[in-house]
Amino acid sequence: MKDKMCPLCSGLLFKIITKKFRGSDGSRSIVKCKGCGLVYLRPPKTFYENKEYYDNDQQLRDLAISDFDFEEYIKKINTDTLRRVEFITKIIKKDSSILDVGCGYGYFVKCLSDSGYKIRGVDTSRERISVGKKKFDIDLVEEYIGGEKKIDKISDRESYDLITLFHFLEHSSEVDSVLSYLFDKLKKGGKIVIEVPAGSDYLLLNKNYGQFVYQEAHSIYFKRKHLEIFLKRNGFKKIKTMYIQRYSILNSLNWIFRGKPQLVNPSRKVTGFISMVDKLYKWIVCKLAVSDTILIIASK
Ligand SMILES: [Zn+2]
Repeated sequence: MKDKMCPLCSGLLFKIITKKFRGSDGSRSIVKCKGCGLVYLRPPKTFYENKEYYDNDQQLRDLAISDFDFEEYIKKINTDTLRRVEFITKIIKKDSSILDVGCGYGYFVKCLSDSGYKIRGVDTSRERISVGKKKFDIDLVEEYIGGEKKIDKISDRESYDLITLFHFLEHSSEVDSVLSYLFDKLKKGGKIVIEVPAGSDYLLLNKNYGQFVYQEAHSIYFKRKHLEIFLKRNGFKKIKTMYIQRYSILNSLNWIFRGKPQLVNPSRKVTGFISMVDKLYKWIVCKLAVSDTILIIASK
């Protein structure tokens, strides 16, 4: 029964948005709940499907055939990682303990570790954890967080001042179990920082962009109000939401006029005169709450 209900309001009525999306095999749909408006993948993925998906991740397969360029990958995620590091160092003291959930290879963990923070990363992908440990020599643990089949390798006595989830929560079909589990792992007064792709992104109205952004890997497309309800009902308070535009105006224009992303590395940063236009563009979409990303911070 649970797999027929909306994960937020348990409603049974929905409208199909699309059956055609990235990675789709036709057995699932992206739907919008008629009760609360949440957009989600229906039916949800099971623990085993999720685990298999991440163990068979394309990036990992590329890695196995040895032409995965790690340095190139780091370059690609550098802008986002540095933005996150800058944000975190502003909100937390140096002697704080941090847990990064869905850490991937652990580049963010490494950057904060280098700045003197005590930080541990967890990820469900065995490959990524083992590669990250070798490359960076940091504290990484393989763990599946969320759902009944949780592999709990983090000591029960372990607790944190800050827990970060960068583009993790939208992959989970068990948002409530993830949040209540992490609430328990936080010290009193501790903070949680969550970054997700925004369900309120205006470009989702573009059919091609929608078919690209909606994907098998994502279980939920959060709007601000949805994420706030999930957080509140799992005990979090002092919730503050920020809008971020990760991709540049060039990438958006390519979607609007050519129906595809910018060809060479969809840019998050642009240079020269266009950078001023880009800055203005990003400011406007964030101000109007229709940007591509939501960042939320809440306390225990
Ligand atoms: Zn609902």
